[in-house]
Amino acid sequence: MHNDIQEVLFTQEQIEAKVAEIGKQLSEEYEGRNPLIICILKGAFIFMADLVKQITVPVEMDFMAVSSYGASTRSSGEVKIIKDLDSSVEGRDVLIVEDIIDSGLTLSYLVDVLQRRNVKSVKIATLFDKPARRTVDLKADISGFILPDAFVVGYGLDYAEKYRNLPYIGVLKPEVYSS
Ligand code: 5GP
Ligand code: MG
Ligand code: MG
Repeated sequence: MHNDIQEVLFTQEQIEAKVAEIGKQLSEEYEGRNPLIICILKGAFIFMADLVKQITVPVEMDFMAVSSYGASTRSSGEVKIIKDLDSSVEGRDVLIVEDIIDSGLTLSYLVDVLQRRNVKSVKIATLFDKPARRTVDLKADISGFILPDAFVVGYGLDYAEKYRNLPYIGVLKPEVYSS
């Protein structure tokens, strides 16, 4: 285990099994359709890469970057699009792939943006979810793991741009972000 990690919440094997399950569920849900899958950068890039390999319907992919916490562990409440989509979403079945939902502010803003661009449908698949921390009314269609109110890193999720490459999800030692 990495020296800065206090506790592993979900192992590489547990995550792999969950991603396969989500891929199967999405393949059934989108049977006969051709969804556009939107990865929310940067956090969701590993989940996206592993997930799309488990989806058996034809898909297209695009990427969007939004402002997040920076080096802090709490949301500023302000959402900014840093990199927009390359493709048009008009009339498309859109699936948003996100790493984790906390307050729900980021996704409620994005769903709104996509709806104003006249999508046919929009669904959310998140690997991790902290429903107890919602400040807006936002529900994912698929939530892989429910997390307690703790700041986690690994499997794409960072603290100050570090730890994204850890293959598991863990909680940092408090001294790492209090120093
Ligand atoms: P929200 O807008 O739902 O409050 O948070 C959205 C984003 O904040 C997530 O997509 C993620 O990038 C970041 N975030 C929320 N909770 C955590 C966490 O526990 N760990 C990390 N590393 N990022 C988080
Ligand atoms: Mg994210
Ligand atoms: Mg981050």
